[in-house]
Amino acid sequence: MAAHALNKASNESAFPERRIFPDEAVKKVAFPVVVSGPSGVGKTCLCQGVLADCGDVVYSVSATTRAPREEEVNGRDYHFVDRERFRAMIQADELLEWAEVHGDLYGTPRYSVLPFLEQGKIVIMDLDVQGGLSMRKAFPDGVFVFIVAPSFEVLEERLRKRRSESEEALKVRLRNAREEMKFRKYYDYLIVNDLLGRTLETLKSIIVAEKCCMTRLFPAEGSGSTR
Ligand code: 5GP
Repeated sequence: MAAHALNKASNESAFPERRIFPDEAVKKVAFPVVVSGPSGVGKTCLCQGVLADCGDVVYSVSATTRAPREEEVNGRDYHFVDRERFRAMIQADELLEWAEVHGDLYGTPRYSVLPFLEQGKIVIMDLDVQGGLSMRKAFPDGVFVFIVAPSFEVLEERLRKRRSESEEALKVRLRNAREEMKFRKYYDYLIVNDLLGRTLETLKSIIVAEKCCMTRLFPAEGSGSTR
């Protein structure tokens, strides 16, 4: 008799969140996740890993004037455009932000972000620190994650192994890495990318935690958090 009552009670509360969190509120949780950090730190792999594992996350495809690398596909990795087209995009206010990075122009098209946020998706983007700051102003409720290598030596080794840049371009990226590190204080989270698998799990955990954030679920109610 007692066991039966217990089963009944636990069945009733099997899905308590259905009563506590209305589906409508949960569906409204959409936010950008900005991933920044020095070149070669592993941002692209991390974003790809998140996309492979999280069905509600989409990647914001940037526009760039940089030449495509061997393995890159136009429209999937970047929208590869010439400077004239990039300037036209700026003029037409098609970009949410843009910046010159390592001598090339990079920008986030509105169409790569806004329609997906409206659909309730999480939009992950790989931006330099200038882009990170611009997005912070445009989306104060975004999630900003800074990735670092365990050391500068490891970063250089990873960049060299990649073999995607000339020696000169590589030196520019290494020089810029030291400057970019100064911007980490503007980010919400810092992850040391020592083991890719572990870093990916940490990044996914941050996204999952942010999806459960009380002020995102119920913005009108706020929360007792002092964060
Ligand atoms: P890569 O040439 O290695 O693909 O990217 C160079 C740098 O440009 C990276 O730091 C990357 O985060 C940044 N980047 C890529 N897309 C954008 C963008 O749309 N806006 C900004 N501001 N930076 C970007």
